[in-house]
Order: sequence, then C-alpha cells, then structure tokens
Amino acid sequence: MNKTQFDINELVRENVQSLKPYSSARDEYVSDGSEMIFLDANENPYENGVNRYPDPQQRNLKTVLAKQKGVSVENILLGNGSDEVLDLLFRGFCEPKVDNIITLPPTYGMYKVLANINNIENRQVLLTKGFEPNVSGVLEASDENTKIIFLCSPNNPTGNSFSEESVIQFLEGFNGLIVIDEAYIDFSDKESWLKKIAMYPNLIVTQTLSKAYGLAGIRLGICYASEEIINILNKIKPPYNVNELTQKRALDRVQDIDKVDNEVSSILNEREKLIVSLRNIDFVKEIYKTDANFILVKVDDANLRYNQLLKMGIVIRNRSSQPLCENTLRFTVGTAIENKKLIEGLKQL
Ligand SMILES: *Cc1c(COP(=O)(O)O)cnc(C)c1O
Repeated sequence: MNKTQFDINELVRENVQSLKPYSSARDEYVSDGSEMIFLDANENPYENGVNRYPDPQQRNLKTVLAKQKGVSVENILLGNGSDEVLDLLFRGFCEPKVDNIITLPPTYGMYKVLANINNIENRQVLLTKGFEPNVSGVLEASDENTKIIFLCSPNNPTGNSFSEESVIQFLEGFNGLIVIDEAYIDFSDKESWLKKIAMYPNLIVTQTLSKAYGLAGIRLGICYASEEIINILNKIKPPYNVNELTQKRALDRVQDIDKVDNEVSSILNEREKLIVSLRNIDFVKEIYKTDANFILVKVDDANLRYNQLLKMGIVIRNRSSQPLCENTLRFTVGTAIENKKLIEGLKQL
C-alpha cells in the first residue's frame, strides 16, 4: 500500500467523526500555576489531596513519558489500564455489526472480549507452530471492513516477540490500523515499535504500567500513535478517566526509572535461573523462548500438574485450552524465594 494514501478519516466511525470532545470544567480553565480560586466545578473546597477533579489530559505525567520515550505529548493517550485504551479503539473505529477485527490466537484474551462487548466480528487467524504471525493468512482474511489487526509482541501467553519482517509486512500491506500491544516490552531486548509511529500513520502502540512498572493496582495504560489518531480517541474518552491517585503514583514511578530498571534486571536474572531449573524437571517437555516476565512450558499433563501445584499453594496459569497450547502451563517469574519454592514443588512431583 502507498501510505501517502492513508486517511484516518476513512477509518473512523461516522458518529465519532462529527463529535466534539466533552468540555469539562477542568478543560475550559487550564491553570498557569498562579494562585486562583476555583469555584467552577462544584467541588468541596476543603483540601484533602483529592477534593479537586484530576487533570483530564494528565499533562504532568504525559510530559515525563513523552520525554522518556522521545515522542511528543500529542502522541499520547492515557487510560484506565490498557483495557480502556483498547476499548476506546473499538469504539472509535469499529462500527457494531458492520466492521471486523483480526486477532492471532493464542493471544491475550481481552481483544476477543472487547470485540464481543462492542458487537464486532473477531476473525481469528492462528499463529504458526513457531508462534509467528501467518501474514498472508491474515491479509487474506481481511476485507474493506477490517479496521484493526491486533498484534501482541511479546505475545501473551507464548512469550515470544514477532519478527520485524512480519510486523513491517502488516504495516505496509494493510490499510487499516495495526495495534501492537507491548505490555511486556520492558522485559525484551527488542526495540519498541514506538519509535516508528512517525513513519507509519496506521501504527498504534500500547503499553502499560501493570507489568514491568509494578503498578497493576493503579490501572494505567498508555497509547502511542499519530496526533490524528490521539485526537479521535480524545473525543470519546471519559473526561476524568485517569484518577488523581493514579496520576500521582504513576508520575512518582516513571520518575524513579532506575528503580524500575533494577527490578526488571532482577526479574530477567530470575527468569534465566528458572529456565535452567525447569530443564531438570522430567515432566517438562518443552520450554518456549520468552521475551517476557513469564515462561510457557509444555508438560506431560497440564491439568494434573496445575492441580498438584495448587495443593501446594502455588497458583500458575493453565493455558491448555488455548489453540496450539495443549498441555501448557504459564509461570510468572516471581521473587527469588517464590521461584525457589516453585522449583522445590516441581521437583517433589
Ligand atoms: C497484562 C496485559 C496487559 C495489561 O493490561 P492493563 O489493563 O494495562 O493492566 C495488556 N496486554 C497484554 C497482552 C497483557 O498481558
């Protein structure tokens, strides 16, 4: 495809195209930092740290993220977890009962859930046996109503990153949106696709503070894309979708990036130790290559091993119901002590 022909307005839902963003009290007046009296939003005036509505555009947090990631603030949308970001993509671009999306199982379950909630057909094209995208199969499955192809890289639950060639074939060969879910990118030595948003107008990269940043409880998801795409999503997002406590905790954490990096290094170190130990467990038949903070393994009998571990008080994920994942278990990398207990438990079986 000739990307100069790419026009985002041809993809956006008709009703969304004509929307104006809802203008809240905090949108209309933007503080310049000087002392003001706020009598505009019917808030309780007695200060307790959260009596005011949060910044609907999360400017402080976006400014730090933009600087760290080398993009501009206009390329960022924040949401109540990636789950909200992904849902906004459906609501912005997919017309219920008319449009479709394509997912590549085995993959993250939320794409399918959100497609069902939004009444959008989910076309599934399985990964190859090596867990790589079947690029020609996906492109053949697409039609003029295919709005989004969801790529999860590193992929959950398989753990591998997709090859650069496949991703480029999608970006260049598909005239709709390519979403690359990079929830696990901080555990990978591959480069983020974030750097390419200026080059590909149909590229959307999502990240999250839920995994490497250790903030699953605050719910903060990040969408990086062209300013045009971000403007469309801004029209449909709830005005105060990221609460004040979340904005504050997220800001503290992204400014303490050395601590995050140290934790990621420890997790990666533990991951390698865990892989070595798993090789010595005789009912472990295969350990799949991972770029994430989890390891997918094939075992002799996943249901049996899952239940045995559960009885020992160790909860893992049985992924056997997923296509291409028969008899597989997914282990999240824990602390050194937790991983030791896991290995001791596995050795007893
Ligand atoms: C865990 C995970 C997320 C995170 O979702 P949040 O809503 O941000 O917590 C996103 N995508 C994938 C593939 C995941 O595994």
